[in-house]
Amino acid sequence: MNALIGNGPKTIITRFAPSPTGYLHLGHVASAIFVWGVARAASARVLLRMEDHDLGRCRRDYEEAIFADLAWLGFAHDNTDFRFAVNSTYRQSDAGAHFESALSELIASGQVYACNCSRQEILLRNRSANAEELRYDGYCRTRGIPLDAPDVGLRLQIPTTELRFDDLRLGMQTQTPALQCGDLLLKDRHGQYTYNFAVVVDDLRQGINLVIRGEDVLHATGRQLWLADKLGGSDAISYFHHPLIMGSNGQKLSKRLLASAIASRRLAGEDPRVLLGEAAQAVGLLAAARPLTVLELPQLLSTHFLKRGRSNGGI
Ligand SMILES: [Zn+2]
Repeated sequence: MNALIGNGPKTIITRFAPSPTGYLHLGHVASAIFVWGVARAASARVLLRMEDHDLGRCRRDYEEAIFADLAWLGFAHDNTDFRFAVNSTYRQSDAGAHFESALSELIASGQVYACNCSRQEILLRNRSANAEELRYDGYCRTRGIPLDAPDVGLRLQIPTTELRFDDLRLGMQTQTPALQCGDLLLKDRHGQYTYNFAVVVDDLRQGINLVIRGEDVLHATGRQLWLADKLGGSDAISYFHHPLIMGSNGQKLSKRLLASAIASRRLAGEDPRVLLGEAAQAVGLLAAARPLTVLELPQLLSTHFLKRGRSNGGI
């Protein structure tokens, strides 16, 4: 697996970054299997980060359950370096100064503007668009709204150029953020930093150079790489987008199963190895579910992706 992401002496650092806005479910476990499996196969460090930038929805009891679930399943993180954590916990909500500093840097570039459009207004202007996500049309770009006006969001002008990156599992990807999302929202009208902004600032701050995450955010990778570059740090970030967990009929996992909290199964005294096996099977890593431990994951991931890589010319 080391061959996937280079053989240099550089420490490979990846992260698992759940949002404490609910309990972990089987989909999170599948994601953790990929993060720890790939990381341990590549001798990488895994940082655990609580993505609690949405302060209105995050709860400390969810966070406590996440810690307990991960420990129960055997996923041990490497938050041992004082640069990354206080008491081994890194929370976005503790990093306000870093977000402010990155935002100031972007404002100084002269490409940030204020926008007071509501989602409804943007939707109305995009009625004819048949896109997968809502694209902002640049309406406020030349309106000169003061950045410190009340109830405004802050957007960053995004170029119309095509962006390319090589995903470790999916191969070369081409994305044009200007056509996908338009000018990037950094901070919303309620003063909350957006996911795209917060995740990039955090990855840069923590020295993350391998991002392992689900295909559901593949579409946002081009804009994040571009933003990281604007902030002076897209140097050699590798991406591995893993498949999403599916039901037995090949459809997305049912809401009922996704809503089934790992915490309740832990508290019911289930065997964590059984749950790990279920998640691995649901995400296509095992032909049939069987009890599985975290120690088996590097071999499972290496075998699976080296075998696939030969057939698709990728990894
Ligand atoms: Zn606007």
